[in-house]
Order: sequence, then structure tokens, then C-alpha cells
Amino acid sequence: MLLLNPGPVTLTERVRRSMLQPDLCHRESEFFDLQDEARARLLATYALDPGEWIAILMTASGTAAVESMVAGLVPEWGRLLVVENGVYGERIGQICERYRIRYERVLMSWWQPLDMVEIEARLDTPGPGGGFSHLAIVHHETTTGRLNDLKAVSAICRARGVQLLVDAVSSFGAEPIDFRDPALLAVAATANKCLHGAPGAAFVITRRAALKSAVSRTYYLDLDRLAKLQDQRNTPFTPAVHAYYALVEALREHEEQGGRAARYARYAALAEQVRSAFQALGIYAVLSLQESSVVLRSYHLPAGLDYATVHDAAKSHGFVIYAGQGELSKTMFRISTMGEITSADIKRLIDCFASLARSGNTMFG
Ligand SMILES: *Cc1c(COP(=O)(O)O)cnc(C)c1O
Repeated sequence: MLLLNPGPVTLTERVRRSMLQPDLCHRESEFFDLQDEARARLLATYALDPGEWIAILMTASGTAAVESMVAGLVPEWGRLLVVENGVYGERIGQICERYRIRYERVLMSWWQPLDMVEIEARLDTPGPGGGFSHLAIVHHETTTGRLNDLKAVSAICRARGVQLLVDAVSSFGAEPIDFRDPALLAVAATANKCLHGAPGAAFVITRRAALKSAVSRTYYLDLDRLAKLQDQRNTPFTPAVHAYYALVEALREHEEQGGRAARYARYAALAEQVRSAFQALGIYAVLSLQESSVVLRSYHLPAGLDYATVHDAAKSHGFVIYAGQGELSKTMFRISTMGEITSADIKRLIDCFASLARSGNTMFG
């Protein structure tokens, strides 16, 4: 079965086999070699200076990395503006709620590019709670496939001394992220999306300097504690050793295949193959090309076909596609091109949709 859902992704045979390496005690040097290599390679993905940046691993899914970043890096005196234009932006607000972090949301349309004027206005007109120290945003909003304009948001933040926390869970490893930007404080991501690792390992990359004012709001996901112990070749808890094996192997493969830019190019070609062939079948992308990531795209369900029918037909041909989130499943579906997916696979997917469209016309049209 090929996974066209936004993670976990279809693994390469090489990464899958890497999980069959020897069992490791997480208190032995072999494990710490693995942890060190994963952390170094994560920084190398965006050519980051290990003196300035730190990669902090945790055994968890991507949400935990976002939670760890937000709970650890917004100080008690801080105030966070959460930009919300999809389900994952909503989730950041929910995390703030649980930890009683002082925050406000700026709600944006899911179907329009971010309104920078409104974001500026919100930062410039602090309410009764005072000004904002931090802004959180989802880089690639997987809800719709929208790639938010990080550069523009960051410029707004930079001009105001506001620091940026980024959910890059579904963009890290493929989409460009400008780490030279002084406003960028941290990103959170996971092994099992654009990096092509297995689920179970997630991470935060932040400026080392940011940890000086880190806060301890959570026990398991305490970012500063995880950072300190990992720097000492230690770990507080039992890590998912096999997921770490897979992450390291996936990062080696990522580098050998040409790194971040090559992964971007590969996704872009596959996503375009899907988009143009779907369009010829009368299945249209929800967002314009300029607004879309290369990682995942949303499509309108073809007229007369419901999601279950499309899903089951694709599954009978060996593909798992993904529904629109919640109510959106009635009108749209999503195709991710992350993971070990080839152009020949996409060709088969398109053949499957072509025959579905034909039967749809006779059955429903
Ligand atoms: C997948 C994803 C997450 C995290 O999901 P998990 O199920 O916890 O791994 C967070 N943010 C975005 C943008 C995502 O695509």
C-alpha cells in the first residue's frame, strides 16, 4: 500500500530495514552515538551552525514537538500571537489554553493568503493584556495545503522585535526556511513527514541562546531539560530506539539524494504531475499554485462522487488518499507526495482516477 496521506509516509526499503539493527540499551554509548548523529544531521539539513542552533529530540509525534516548543519558549512574562488559518494553527491555541500561556489568536481565512495588514495591526494594537513578545505560525498548513508566507510574517515580526515560533511539521526537510532570519526563534517538526523517517521521533530546532530564558511548564516535554541532557550524551526517558534508527538512516538518504533542495524538486515534480493530470480529468486544485506547498495539495471531489467512493477505489488500487479535515471531507480530498513515491506510482494513481471518472459519469452523472 502506498501512503498519499500527510504522514506517516511510505518508507524506503533501506529505512525500513534500518529498524532491524541490534537492540540497544538507551544508557549505552551506541545509543548516544545514534542520538548525536540524528541531532547533527537535523541541523545539517538546513546547514545550521551547531554553535548557534540546537536540535532537541523527543519520542513523540509532531504535535508534542510543537507543544514542547510553545510551552518551553514563551516566558511567563511573554505573550503569544497565534496566526490561525487551519486546524494546526487552532491546535497551537489549544496548547496555550492548557498551559495557561498568555495568547491571542488572529483568525484568517483558510482560503485566502494571510492578511499581513491585519497581522501587523494586531501586533501594533496590544489589547488589555499588553504587547506581544512572540508569534506562532504554521509554515505549511496541512489542512488545506497552503504554504504560509513565512518571509513576509517574519519581516513584520523582525521590525517589532517579536520572535517567531514555527510549526514546520509538514515542511521541514523540503520547503525552504530562512534560518538566517534573526526573528526566527524555533521550529518544531517530526521524523515521519518530509524527512521520510518512521513515526515516533520528533524534534525542536532552536537558537541555543533561546534556552537561557526557557520555561519549565511540562515534565516529559521540558525542552530545556531535554536539551541539557542530550548535550551531555544522556536522555531522561526511554526513547523509541527503532524510530531513531530510521530517522538517522532517512537523514543519510536525504543528504545522499541531494538534501533539502532536491527533496523540494522531487515533490514539486510529483505534485505537478498530479495537478495537471487531475485537471485534464476535471478534478481541480482548491488553491492556486502560488499559494500551495509542494508537499500536499487539496482537490475538489469530482462531481457525483463522494469521498468514500474515491477513497475505496484508490485503496483497491493500492493507494491511501486523505480526506479533507472534518466537514471538508464532503467537498475535498488531499494528496500528499511525501515518502517513497515515484512518478510511475502517480501514473497508476491517475489511471485509477481516470477510470473512476468514467464510471462516475455513467453511474452518477
Ligand atoms: C502532521 C502535522 C502535525 C502533527 O501531527 P502528529 O499527528 O502529532 O504527528 C502538526 N502540524 C502540522 C502542520 C502537521 O502537518
